[in-house]
Amino acid sequence: MPLSDFERVVALSTPGDYKAGESEESVIRVSLRFSENHDLVFLGGDLEGSVKLTCQRCLEVMEYSLAGPVKLAVSETEREVEGLPKGFELICLLDADDVGLKLDEVHLLPMVEDELLLRIPLVPMHVEGAECSGRARIGEVSNEADPKENITRPFSALADLMASKGKGH
Ligand SMILES: [Zn+2]
Repeated sequence: MPLSDFERVVALSTPGDYKAGESEESVIRVSLRFSENHDLVFLGGDLEGSVKLTCQRCLEVMEYSLAGPVKLAVSETEREVEGLPKGFELICLLDADDVGLKLDEVHLLPMVEDELLLRIPLVPMHVEGAECSGRARIGEVSNEADPKENITRPFSALADLMASKGKGH
């Protein structure tokens, strides 16, 4: 499936840094197996693909892998399920209005998209051991600056203001 089909994922990725035609070629490979057991539909398989994110340490664009297994158990109603196979996550189709979807109405794309979104970190950063120029910069800053000098004193500006007002009278 083209990455552009997953609009919420695209919205979180770093725009404007694709080479010509590249965004069209970006695909998420989805392979899922379906099975049914005791009113549950099991989706098991794999996602492959990556998005471009901005490393929040060095502010450079990096390719972030979203690959990994999918293990979902889908239920029409909200309920406790005992003996869920190891690693499977239960998803209930009841929406906010308590109008439940039926299993045959499930749209796969939003469900896969939810899985992809879960894999995008809130604060994307180069993984340990990868090229990240931000790490060196943080080292320089912490060596040069005494952190105590950077403490903000919220009332210092007010004190200055009062002092200057006092001079005026
Ligand atoms: Zn980085």
